Amino acid sequence: MPCDIVVCVKQVPHPDYLNKISIDPTGGTIEREGVPALINPGDRNALEEALGIRDRFSGRVIVLTMGPPQARKALEEALAMDADDAIHLCDRAFAGADTLATAQALAYGIRKLEHFDLILCGNTTIDSGTGQVAVQLAELLDLPSIIDAEELTFEDERSLLVKRIWERGYIKVRIKLPAVIAVTAKINQPRLPTVLGIMAATQKEIKNWTAADTGADTGRVGLDGSPTQFFEMSEFHAKRQGEILQGSPEEAVTLAIDKLVEREIL
Ligand SMILES: Cc1cc2nc3c(=O)[nH]c(=O)nc-3n(C[C@H](O)[C@H](O)[C@H](O)COP(=O)(O)OP(=O)(O)OC[C@H]3O[C@@H](n4cnc5c(N)ncnc54)[C@H](O)[C@@H]3O)c2cc1C
Repeated sequence: MPCDIVVCVKQVPHPDYLNKISIDPTGGTIEREGVPALINPGDRNALEEALGIRDRFSGRVIVLTMGPPQARKALEEALAMDADDAIHLCDRAFAGADTLATAQALAYGIRKLEHFDLILCGNTTIDSGTGQVAVQLAELLDLPSIIDAEELTFEDERSLLVKRIWERGYIKVRIKLPAVIAVTAKINQPRLPTVLGIMAATQKEIKNWTAADTGADTGRVGLDGSPTQFFEMSEFHAKRQGEILQGSPEEAVTLAIDKLVEREIL
């Protein structure tokens, strides 16, 4: 039962450097200069899940990113983790995309593929983290989707049982393939690239597709295709209200708990 899986990966700033990045207050874009980048952590979980499925059932794992030239590094890392193919959607026309324009670009890229059974995404990114792209992608491709997935089990060639978070527990949902599924960090422990993997990756091709290569309508991708646009940025200033609780330590703790419960913090 071969299963061809597309994994959408986004290159994001390294989490150790998140306090070093800034947002351009005029354009709303992230200023990444001098900040190391990596594959969005949740996308590494999506990739690990895809690799596990491929290793069990055969098929190919195709990693897909939309991003500037430096996003190629994310694809190189994914290939070193043992992905089979990599596609880089890279064009000025894709720049400045909001989530819908990002999903549009990914959808154009995916439509160009000869065949796929499943699309895996991370649930959310660690930079802008809207969690919108996977479901928008599913809508654009007219596919079913599930987010918050923590376990995938094949029932047969064309259907999966997905355990997903729901309120304070889980539900299991059956989904027919092809489908888009966004996974959480709990689904698995992503592998690290091995030296052999890194060497093998240098022999694998990364396809560069421009907007024209995918047949994209440039009015639907990038800044021109973005119905949401950055408007204004301001800092949130939290007001602090100190209060010293009187009584013995036990009484003070009980009082503190009561106050937290009252404010629905606990
Ligand atoms: C601070 C900030 C706030 C923003 N708020 C909004 C907003 O409210 N609405 C809006 O439309 N745009 C917003 N944007 C723009 C948004 O960041 C971009 O559209 C971005 O390309 C995708 O959004 P995301 O990182 O939130 O993706 P998410 O929806 O969080 O990503 C989910 C998954 O989709 C896949 N994915 C996402 N981007 C890519 C990619 N480029 N290539 C391959 N796979 C990908 C990955 O698997 C990822 O794990 C914001 C940007 C910033 C900097």
